[in-house]
Order: sequence, then C-alpha cells, then structure tokens
Amino acid sequence: MAVTNDLEASVRQIGEELARLSGGQSPTLFERRWWSQAAINLAMHNLDFKTQLFRFIDVLPSVTDDQRVVTLAQEYFGALAAQAFGLGWGLKALAATGVGAKLSGHAIRAQVEQMARTFIAGSSVTDATPALTHLWTEGKAWSVDLLGEATISDQEADRYRDRCLEALETLAQVARSWKRSPLLEQDHWGPVPRVQLSLKISALSPHVDPIDPEGSFDSVARRLRPIVDAAMRAPASLIFDMEQAETKDLLIMIFTRLLMEPAYRTFPHAGLAVQAYHRATMQDVEAILAWARQRGTPVTLRLVKGAYWDSDTIRYRQRGWPVPLFEHKAETDANYEALVRTLLEASDVIRPAFGTHNLRTLAYIEAMAEQLHLSPATWEYQMIFGMAEPFQEAVLRRGRRLRLYTPVGELLPGMAYLVRRLLENTSNESFLRKEFVESQSLSMLLAPPVPTPADRPAAVPPGFRNEPLRDFSVPEARSAMQQAINEVKGQLGKTWRSVTDGLTLNGPLMPSHNPSRPEEIVGIVLTAAAADIEAAVRCADRAWAAWRTLPAERRVEIIREAAALMRSRRDRLAAWEVLECGKSRREADADVAEAIDFLEFYGVEWLRLSKPKRLGQEPGELNHRLLEPRGITAVIAPWNFPLAIPTGMVSAALVTGNPVLFKPSERSPIMGQLLAELLAEAGVPEAVLLCLHGGPEIGRALAQHPAITTIAFTGSKKVGLGLLKDAAAVVPGQRMVKRVIAEMGGKNAIIIDETADLDEAVAGVIASSTGYSGQKCSACSRTIVHAAVYDLFLKRLQEAVASLRVGNPEHPGTQVGPVIDERAQASILDYIKIGNQEGRVMVEGRVTQPGWYVGPTVFADVAPTARIAQEEIFGPVLAVLKAGSFEEALSLANSTEYALTGGVYSRSPSHLEMARERFDVGNLYLNRPITGALVNRQPFGGHRLSGVGAKAGSEDYLMQFVVTRVVSEQTLRRGFAPAE
Ligand code: NAD
Repeated sequence: MAVTNDLEASVRQIGEELARLSGGQSPTLFERRWWSQAAINLAMHNLDFKTQLFRFIDVLPSVTDDQRVVTLAQEYFGALAAQAFGLGWGLKALAATGVGAKLSGHAIRAQVEQMARTFIAGSSVTDATPALTHLWTEGKAWSVDLLGEATISDQEADRYRDRCLEALETLAQVARSWKRSPLLEQDHWGPVPRVQLSLKISALSPHVDPIDPEGSFDSVARRLRPIVDAAMRAPASLIFDMEQAETKDLLIMIFTRLLMEPAYRTFPHAGLAVQAYHRATMQDVEAILAWARQRGTPVTLRLVKGAYWDSDTIRYRQRGWPVPLFEHKAETDANYEALVRTLLEASDVIRPAFGTHNLRTLAYIEAMAEQLHLSPATWEYQMIFGMAEPFQEAVLRRGRRLRLYTPVGELLPGMAYLVRRLLENTSNESFLRKEFVESQSLSMLLAPPVPTPADRPAAVPPGFRNEPLRDFSVPEARSAMQQAINEVKGQLGKTWRSVTDGLTLNGPLMPSHNPSRPEEIVGIVLTAAAADIEAAVRCADRAWAAWRTLPAERRVEIIREAAALMRSRRDRLAAWEVLECGKSRREADADVAEAIDFLEFYGVEWLRLSKPKRLGQEPGELNHRLLEPRGITAVIAPWNFPLAIPTGMVSAALVTGNPVLFKPSERSPIMGQLLAELLAEAGVPEAVLLCLHGGPEIGRALAQHPAITTIAFTGSKKVGLGLLKDAAAVVPGQRMVKRVIAEMGGKNAIIIDETADLDEAVAGVIASSTGYSGQKCSACSRTIVHAAVYDLFLKRLQEAVASLRVGNPEHPGTQVGPVIDERAQASILDYIKIGNQEGRVMVEGRVTQPGWYVGPTVFADVAPTARIAQEEIFGPVLAVLKAGSFEEALSLANSTEYALTGGVYSRSPSHLEMARERFDVGNLYLNRPITGALVNRQPFGGHRLSGVGAKAGSEDYLMQFVVTRVVSEQTLRRGFAPAE
C-alpha cells in the first residue's frame, strides 16, 4: 500500500512538472488556422455534425471535380456548411455556381490538404526528408509509416514492399549526414539506429487471413525477408504495427516466427506494437517476453492504447462475437499502466517504447521507472507527428528520448488516416480534448484510472438472434473445422438410406461427386421413381392429421430441437458442404449458421402467429383469425445453399403443420439426406417429411400431382416459370389451387460512383462476385462504374482478381473453389466465349488442375444489352459497364428482367438516397457486399422475374404455408353478451 501511495505521489508530482513544462502551448490540431471556431465547436458538441465532417473529409480526396466538391459539401452540411466553415474554409461562395463554385471547391480541397500536411510529413520519403531532418535537429527521432491504400492484390503488396525498401535506402542515406545525437542514438542495449520504419503487415500480402495462418505467413514472409535484410544493412529498426483484433495473434505469430529464423535471430532492432485496449495483451506480452528470452536478442515492444477500438467493437458486436477489447477507457488506461510496469521490468530482454499522449500516463511511466531505478535511456516515448506538441516539448525538456510516429504518403490515401486521428482527438473521452478544450483541473487529469467493475454479461434480450458465424481467428475454431473435414473424409462413399417411413423407392442409385476431385464419390443415395410419388403422397396424407393437430408449441419444440442438433454438428455439416459442394470453410459455415437461423426464427414466429388473433374490439361479436396448414407441400431445392435453403423451406412448411415431400437437388443429395435425417432425429415423423431424391423428373412429378397444395421452389428462372405454369393447370382429383413460392435467379449489379471508397468497392465487388465461385443467386455479375473512376477501379479490380487463390476448398487459404459440376463448368465456359466477343477481357481465369474449376473472369467495356450483361451465368464471371452519371448507372442497373439484389458504393448522400428510391431490387445493399443476407435482418427475395413469394427469413414467409380462416361469432344472445 505504501508503495502505491508513494507511486501516486510521484505520479502527481511528475505530472505537475510535465504540465508546467508543456504550459502555454496548444497542440496543432486545435490551432485556429485550421478551423473556424464554429466548426470545432460544432464537432465537439454535435455528434452528427462530427460524423458528417469526417465523412466529408474522407470522401474529398477521391473527388477530382471542383464543382462536385461544392455540391458534396452542400449534401453533407446543408445549411450548416457556411456556418461551420466560414471564410477559413473558403466556403463563403458555397451558394455560388460556375466559376465561383469552382474556386470554392478548389479552396476547400487545398485547405484540407494543407491540414493533412500537419499530420503527414510528405507525399513521398524524399518529400518528407526536410521534415524528418528538422525533427532530428529539434532532438526528436521518428518512425516513418508509409501510408497507402488497403492491399488487395499481389501487385499492391509488391509495391508496398518496394516502397519500404526504397524508404530504408533513402532514409539511411539522408540520415547518415546528420549530427550525432547521443540521446537519440543510444539506449541501455547500445546503439539505436536513426532510421525506423513502422510496417503494416497486412499491406505485405492480399492473403493475410487468420483462417490460414500458414499461408498468411508464407505470403507475408516472402516480402518481409528482403525488408528485414535491408534494415539489417541500413541499419534501421522495424516495428510491426498492430491492426484489427482478428489479426492480432496472426501478426504475433508472423513476428516471432520470422525473427526466430537463423538469418534474423540476432537482429536487435525489430519490434512489435501491442495494444493496451485488448484484454489478452498482458498474456500476449508475457508469452512474447518468454520468447524473447529464448531468442536471446532484444526486441522492441511499443505499447499503445490501440487505434481500432470503434471499428473492432462495432464489427464484433455486429457478428455476435464477444468483444475482446476493454469496453471502458479507464480499464484500458489501467491495463496500460499494468503493462508499463511489465515492460519496464523486462528491460533486460526488450526495449520498451511507450506511445501515449496522456499526461497521467507519461507521469506514471516516469514514476514507475524511477521506482524501478531504471536509467532514462531504457525506454522511449512515441507520439504522433503533428499531435500533442506540448507534451512532446515537455518530455524533451525532461531529457527523454522521443520518437514521432510520422506518416508519409499521398494525401489522398492519407486522408483516411487523418480522419482516424481526428476522431481520436475529438472523441468524448480523449485526453487532448479534456486538456486543451475543456481545461479540466490538473488533479483530475492526473487521477488514477478507476476501472468500473467488469460489467455483468448483459442479459440476452428474449427473441430471435442470429447464430454467430465462426470466428476463425480462434485456433479452436480452425482445428474443429479441420478435424470435422478429416472425419467426414473417412465417411465418404457410403450408400444412404432414404428417410421414407418404409416406403419403397424404385429409382436408380445416384452418386454424388466431389467437385474438387470428381473421381471421389461423396456418397450414394437411392432415388425415387416418378411412379413412387403416388405412394409417397398417400403416406404423407395419412400422417398429416396427427401432425396438424399437434399443439403449435410441440411442433416448434421439434424444429428448435433440430436447430440444437445442427448446432452440435455444425462443423461436420459444414465439412460435408466443403466436400460435396466445393464451398470454402467460411461459406460452408455461414450456410449452416443460416440453416440454424431459419429453424429458430420460424419457430419463434410461429409461436406468435399460431395463436388465434382477435380482430376488432366491438362488443357483441368475436372475430378470430385462424391460420391452418394448406396441405401436402412439395419442396424443390437448389444445391447452392445446400442446407440453409432447404431447411428454410422445409421447416416453414413443417412448423405450420404441413407434411412435406422434399426433393433435394440432385447436385447436393447428401446435404439433403443429412437434413432429412436430422429432422427425423429431432422428432419429425418420417411420414411427415419424406425425402425423395431425384432430378427434374421427380420435381415435375411432384409439382403436377393433384394432392400437392403448395410448391416451395428455389432455383432457376426457367424451372420456376415452368412450375408456375404447371401449377396453374387444375387436374382431375385436385381440390386446391396450388400456390407456388418461386425464388429464382438474378443478374445483380453493383454501382460504383465517383465518390466511392475504392478499397471497399473493389473488395466488395470481389467478395460478391467470386464468393462461392459466383454461384449465389445474390452474386454480383455486373458492375456499373462511373466514368471518372472507371480506369482506376478496373486496374485495381484486375490485379485483385488475378491475385485470388483458386483451388480445393479443403485448403483453408482457398478463396475460390470449383463450380458444382461439369454441366455448370461447360455452361460458364460457354459464356466466357461469348464474353470474349462482347467485352474486353481483363482477367480470364484459366485453371489447369483437374476438377470442375472456372477461374474468376472479368470483362470490361460491356454493352448494357450484351448477353453477359443480361443473362444469369451463375459462375465467377463479371461484366463491367461504364456510366456517365449516377442516373444512367441506375437505369442500367434496372435494365434486366430480374430484381433480386443490388448494391451501391458511394459517399454521396444524395446518390444513396436516390438509390433507396429508384434501385428496383428485392435487397439493396449500400456500401457493403451484396451477398450474405441474414435471417430477420436482411429478409431475402426478389421480384420481377426473380421470384414470387414473401421474403425468406421474414415474418411474412410463414403466411404462405397456411390458409387463413376467420370465424366470427355473434356473442349477444337474448340481450346478454359475456363480459369482456
Ligand atoms: P435449378 O432450377 O436447375 O434446380 C432447382 C431444383 O429444381 C432442383 O432440385 C432441380 O432438380 C429441380 N428441377 C429442375 N428442373 C425441374 C423441373 N422441370 N421441374 C421441377 N423441378 C425441377 O436451379 P439450381 O441450379 O439448383 O440453382 C441455381 C438457380 O437457383 C439459380 O438460377 C439461382 O439464381 C437460383 N437461386 C435463387 C435463390 C433465391 O432465393 N432467389 C436462391 C438460390 C438459388
């Protein structure tokens, strides 16, 4: 206790001294020359304005047209624009047009660029040299961070590697002539290089993915080794920056593994950033320290609070994953202080570096070092170039080694960085804000962080919640999936018994092949013959009475039991999909999660809907709406979501009280079989769900049978329209008009306008067009790009698509697997031939390995009426079209017979609004990929020739499987009515 009190006393005392040393200055960010007072006040106190302001700054660099800059400012700020920016931002002439508007646009951009220069030392290393030299003469070391766009292709990764190599060479050359600075060049281990480069590891490969640590390591290490070689020669230190939470373990692994290689084991100037906001960091640091001892050469550990709190927290919450970061700033601050002690105590094996702009933290580090009797050479401070200058000054005056984290790069990509910094500085909890804007008292600023007691896990609100996808950055998730794949491989080739309640089926045996290795038989099923349908119908009809009279609660219980079974077999079911359908691990996992969602959601919904609903409140009458099953339902399913789609259709029919004749796709029979068995195991009587394997002839025979009342179909337009026609014909013996729910194809477009974030747009188009080899009804197969960004977009797209890893999805690093079968492959290849005539080939994915592969293929300059721009291809083939305006892009997007999904990448509020109003699709996605709809959150389905029926995963869906009866009773008898 005494120690703590002493420590606190010295934190206070040192803090006061640092405050004195920093007195009288205000940090650059808050200088009047950048902001009108109105803008900063608005940003501080009006969250909406702040968001708009940062979004505006973020989009600005990609807009080259001055006039557009002005209209964008108007879109973002409306009437507030002039008030916010005033003269300082050259926006006075906002309302002007023509030349006036041009001048204003130019002025806005120029001012924001000038502001960016405060935080970015130069647009290239050479350009930054004077600033870096100046820092050195001021007694400040630096760590250069090369800014750039997100790496989405091998070429971009190569370019980042080359920029790092050039930077090391240029910087070493420049720094050689500088005056010696004993403070900056010497620490407790010996010489410290003048040059330091901070590395963004994810920029060194487009294949950094925690699902595939080995592949990620190989692709990064290949580009990293020459950089380490150059750093050893220079000499320079290299620090790996930390990034998003999912990649934390991967980056630590890459760091420790690479630096243990014999060539690098003795390199003493490598380092890693660690983030205090991460709950696991203390544990990670202990492991790294143990590793460093074993390695026998020091490493630098740069302790930072962490810069991805908002985005990580939002992403994890959105996915339903536990957030691995501390929720409250005080917890992070307390953890930071605990880590300060750990790092300082380990200075016999590391070089501690502390990145902070917080007075209390600075004072704490000083006090702790004093208590541990460490020489000030032992650690260094790191602050960000252009920020917190008063504290920079204070630590310099105290004679400490200070290094500035200094971004270098084009202002355009640098803007994203700038916006993050701005956010940090104006966020409510930020120290800078407290210190310099709100002028809190020193004693409050120096008070120890008091973490609020760990929150009790929030009570899960009742009702439906989506099943979270697997987080494959967790090692257990990866090994469980691998083990499941191994297990399933041991069960391939067997013949499955159909779930038919003893009904004899007379069709031939049907094998299912692995699309990645066609000679491999995944399993064999016994099919039905068309003549078996009659017996199946009778069997289902007999079973119906008991099923429909079960209490709704009991049927829901059975359906939810099926969900529980699926959850318990989740990896194995996904593994079957990998092997039978060629889905990648993530895609397969998502399909199983969606199947679970359908079961849970329809269960919950039916509990609500099944209760008789009183209509009207008038006295003397009682009106009730009753929902009752329509009757025998034929479910005709596709193969592309081989568990989720059939589960949705079958469970909706079952839970509402209908018996089901289920025909899985002949291209994924084992998945259909597994579903039928699982539902039987959960308690669905076999006769209530009969699984009838077979091809189109069985589907047709089912649909044409007079006893079928409902046809739930998902598949191609041609077949769906055929079923609608067949169903319209009333045949002898039929007693009910058939209802057809037909979810059909799409020719989905993503529009990229001139304001789009291309990092996201290219990644979104690739995810949407090549996910599951483009075999999703929701897949993007047209991209309509504004002329102003057309060439740039195409170049990045081309390189990124060519960098995709095509191959067997059993390998975790595979991004694009095979297509479903030989027929699909032949049809897609035919379209590629057509595309060669209709467009300019950008990428033609030739795949030589055996298996039903088609590499991702992109055609540019495609005419809107071209076949590849109008017809559903159902493979990884993308047509890129050019548009002169957003309006034109919208009309091109709406120009096909389909209306399923669509997307827009834009940072123009008015374009997004226009898309909401006019983009005619069932599911519209703004600034995100267009696949991956979630039950209840994005209920799914199209119109026009994409389908008829209510959206799957919506509250309306179940209503299609019931008839509605209304019973009205006159309750007034002889003048009396029961009391209500
Ligand atoms: P498909 O139409 O070839 O087959 C679907 C099912 O219908 C299969 O079970 C098949 O055996 C059966 N079938 C085929 N011909 C039939 C006939 N004449 N009568 C009755 N049944 C018949 O489609 P597919 O290749 O399995 O799936 C891909 C198609 O499905 C694509 O067009 C895709 O866009 C569409 N799809 C749409 C959605 C959606 O929600 N809108 C979802 C997934 C797939």
